[in-house]
Amino acid sequence: MRRVSVFGATGSIGVNTLDMLARQPGEFEVVALTGGRNVALLAEQARALGAEIAVTAHESCLPQLRAALAGSGVAAAAGPAALIEAAQRPADWVMSAIVGAAGLAPGFRALEQGATLALANKESLVAAGPLLMAEAARHGATILPVDSEHSAVFQTLIGEDIAAVERIIITASGGPFRDWPAERIAAATVAEAVAHPNWAMGARISIDSASLFNKALELIETREFFGIDPARIEVLVHPQSILHALVGFNDGALMAHLGAADMRHAIGFALNWPARRPAPVERLDLAALGRLDFAAPDPERFPALRLAREVMAAGGLAGAAFNAAKETALDAFIDGRISFAEMAPLVEATLARLSAADGIAAAPDTLDAVLAMDHLARVRAGELMSGGFGQ
Ligand code: NAD
Ligand code: MG
Repeated sequence: MRRVSVFGATGSIGVNTLDMLARQPGEFEVVALTGGRNVALLAEQARALGAEIAVTAHESCLPQLRAALAGSGVAAAAGPAALIEAAQRPADWVMSAIVGAAGLAPGFRALEQGATLALANKESLVAAGPLLMAEAARHGATILPVDSEHSAVFQTLIGEDIAAVERIIITASGGPFRDWPAERIAAATVAEAVAHPNWAMGARISIDSASLFNKALELIETREFFGIDPARIEVLVHPQSILHALVGFNDGALMAHLGAADMRHAIGFALNWPARRPAPVERLDLAALGRLDFAAPDPERFPALRLAREVMAAGGLAGAAFNAAKETALDAFIDGRISFAEMAPLVEATLARLSAADGIAAAPDTLDAVLAMDHLARVRAGELMSGGFGQ
């Protein structure tokens, strides 16, 4: 039996992961499940799967979790240290589906004990790609992409020589504001930003999809995963979210990956790799779809992609700063402290504030260095906001 853990089990990716585990009964032994404040769901999941331990990120939720697990035989724990401890429990396969930089340390610890890491938490690669890849290599661990575009590229590259790859194209739906004029985007509400046209996802990644910050993170994720020059990575707007990525080879061939917008495909692929197993996703009827549309992203209304390219050119700890500044801007938008259109300028201003003296150019070679830059970028973004940014 394979031992598996799911970090962020109560989220959108987590729930889909448990759905896929349940479809292969008798194959898995569940070690750790983790969640946040949704303690009732976490306890229900842990009981149903007979997990060894359930961990909530919040210490204040521990009494409730203990009560909900009473008599189940499932251990309960809480807080960041408990998350790390859970990540250090031996497991063969670990789903990293916590949202945000909070997912970095548990994923890092899972790699240390040689687990195959199914990585939905793209923020880990944005903040600490070289570190994570080196850690995986050091411990003989494998990192598998779960992001749909990156799973698509990974699948398209099977049996191919990466040296023959000319370019990688990841698609973006364009989000709910794809056709909105700039003035309307500037005044967008959280409810409007969260309403993704094609994918059912957590609130934060949905808003990041509306601003194209999600695609900005994915540009960096592509670079880190496949080790390809940023100049060879393109973003293509494709409103139907049917074609997830293309790989262009040196003989002019473009190989594409198509499928329904259902994360259970990529999760199942990562779960069963290198095998393919049946997945409960809708089968495409291309004749009924009739057409697939493509367009270039608009850099004026969606500046996030330019920022990602600047971050890749800067290297060092710029990715950690970028992700942290983005998370701070997103929090501020959700809390109503800045407008939708102020997120990108806040991220840009935060990056501009961080100088060589702050260590931004240093290599992301330790977890502590990455977490320190993450913290500093949040402080700088906070200072910019209290200094009147966005007033
Ligand atoms: P979500 O908000 O639905 O779930 C997030 C999970 O993380 C929950 O279990 C929550 O309890 C937990 N969590 C939140 N903050 C935490 C913290 N500080 N410490 C510990 N746990 C915490 O998010 P999601 O949509 O499932 O996305 C999860 C990750 O997968 C993100 O990195 C996202 O970018 C990535 N991803 C998601 C999708 C998707 O379809 N939802 C697609 C591609 C990639
Ligand atoms: Mg994606």
